[in-house]
Amino acid sequence: MKENSPNLAAILLAASIAAASGCKTAPPLSSGIDVVGMDNSVTPGDDFNVYANGGWMKATPIPADKASYGIFSVLADETRKRLLALIQDSAKAGSATDNDAHKVGDFYASFMDEAAIEAKGIAPLKPELDGIAAIKDRRDLARVLGAQLRADVDALNDTNFETGNLFGVWITQGLTDPSHSYPYLLQGGLGMPDRDYYLSVSPHMVELRKQYQAHIQAMFQLAGFDKPAERAARVFALETKMAGVHATRVESEDVHTAVLWKRDDLAAKAPGLDWPTLLTAAGLNDAPVFVIWHPKAVPGLSKLAAAESLDSWKDWLALHAVERSTAFLPKAFVDERFHFYGQILSGIPEQRPRWQRGMDYTSAALGEAVGKLYAQRYFPAETKAKVQAMVGDLVTAFGKRIDALTWMSPKTKSQAKAKLATLKVGVGYPDRWLDYSSLEIVSGDALGNAQSAGLFEYHRQLAKLHQPVDRGEWWMTPQTVNAVNLPLQNALNFPAAIIQPPYFDVNADAAHNYGSMGAIIGHEISHSFDDQGSQFDAEGRLANWWTKEDMDHFKAAGEALAAQFDAYKPFPDLSVNGHQTLSENIADVAGLLAAYDAYRLSLHGTPDALKDGFTGDQRFFISFAQSWRSKTRDEELRRQIATDGHAPEQYRAVTVRNLDAWYGAFSVSAPQKLYLAPNDRAHVW
Ligand SMILES: [Zn+2]
Repeated sequence: MKENSPNLAAILLAASIAAASGCKTAPPLSSGIDVVGMDNSVTPGDDFNVYANGGWMKATPIPADKASYGIFSVLADETRKRLLALIQDSAKAGSATDNDAHKVGDFYASFMDEAAIEAKGIAPLKPELDGIAAIKDRRDLARVLGAQLRADVDALNDTNFETGNLFGVWITQGLTDPSHSYPYLLQGGLGMPDRDYYLSVSPHMVELRKQYQAHIQAMFQLAGFDKPAERAARVFALETKMAGVHATRVESEDVHTAVLWKRDDLAAKAPGLDWPTLLTAAGLNDAPVFVIWHPKAVPGLSKLAAAESLDSWKDWLALHAVERSTAFLPKAFVDERFHFYGQILSGIPEQRPRWQRGMDYTSAALGEAVGKLYAQRYFPAETKAKVQAMVGDLVTAFGKRIDALTWMSPKTKSQAKAKLATLKVGVGYPDRWLDYSSLEIVSGDALGNAQSAGLFEYHRQLAKLHQPVDRGEWWMTPQTVNAVNLPLQNALNFPAAIIQPPYFDVNADAAHNYGSMGAIIGHEISHSFDDQGSQFDAEGRLANWWTKEDMDHFKAAGEALAAQFDAYKPFPDLSVNGHQTLSENIADVAGLLAAYDAYRLSLHGTPDALKDGFTGDQRFFISFAQSWRSKTRDEELRRQIATDGHAPEQYRAVTVRNLDAWYGAFSVSAPQKLYLAPNDRAHVW
């Protein structure tokens, strides 16, 4: 998503002038759409994405330090600039600032002190590498593997399945027990993004594997290991075996494959690893029950822990220790890692400026300390109230849509309404901030600080195992440009950083705000009722509350949408995966429908005036497509298709073709390329 056109700049400037002058008379609302960024030579019904965004796409190169570029990137850049200003201001204020602000400043400054990092070389990582070198048996191996586990994955909220540790840990309420938190164990261990990268026969993947092995060798060389080529071959062979037991991305999305194992079941059902030693080192030995998200991969990885040579495991551990720490090591490490993960895997020519990376690591390490500073300055109570009201409109519109469904039984409808009524919506930032007082940040110790912050977060997550479940827990920081549905909490988070123009613009009209922010809110609400959300009840319990007939209808409608996305083919050898992206595609259609209803309701029956030559309905759909404007490098697009639950933005923008109202707004008819006969449009909601 992207927006840096003159139009938007003018809107932003006007807004800031109005704010600065304390201007009391409300200026007329703008259309909010970027007319210059459109391409009127294209018929909307042939390619709505290019129609809405073609001008922008032609005029906007992808910056050399980015894999893709769109509105998300623009807002993330803007947010980083704001955060930097906050850090600099609090540094100037000196001792008068609060403790958290100090920690944020020290973390950032330590990362920015490149001279100190160069002078230390790899010394800060030495204790960890020595610990790995000292492994002499399988018990030592289990202890080191366990000590590395972190709460670094998330199976249902922002669906992050990637970790370089042997297992990923996620701690949240039980799938059928909303009153207690459980540790979830997920597959891990790969250095490349997904099993496909190791196993696919596509020439592109075969070439990447060669490059990856060269990268591993280079990392060993930099870290001063002897026989780097041999070590690289061993690590690559081990990871390939891990990939062989990994679940696919589509399998990972199926909540029904998860099983509950008692602690002792781990040794019985996943033999190989010294589980008591691993769990003790991971701080998990007092957990009586585990949710095993990947019940085939966990035994598979455990078996490899016994079957593969200790030397292979030690090399693998050493490599991952270096990779994990690279950002805080000398430039040679950073450059080599960027060469593979940035340039080769994602096609990014140049690294981002150091201060931007520093800001991101600080934000990751001290998320809510940074978020508190951000929200205090940039998220006024007035904006929060307006967006809360908009959420209310969308919830109402969604409820009406449920009432009007002809295919859903009264029983399922009443359960759906109950779920909607208890939905907990977080806007901007959490009700309570995290307490960072026990986290020590040492000035000048860049790697040590990152390690302390990672451990602090892991301990915070472990502590949840002994605390009452908090339905108000946030899973995104306020400075994140994104939004998330939390199925187990029946809750939504809309971080402050996404609630800004062009998504939400107090100076733009309803058609614009409902087409962009409204569709995002609708998208997140609808996740509560999509193929994942439909499986969780009002308390977030995994329970089938749909009648069989309702579920059959819903699945059939979903299949049609999956087939629609399977047909999108950005490369001759690669299509979008309609099932991998199904939840998100259903959410896009449902969210857009609810946003459209809410927009119409907001007009109270009066026709919307023409603005910039477009009717209200046209502006609504153009705003939606413009909110998805994006350009992506080929390598990155391939990575996204392999690993992401979201379809590429260019296809999300044209999901308007599933709404009847879009056909009327732009007189779309056969044989235009996006035309779908009424029966072929996705009628999920
Ligand atoms: Zn989503």
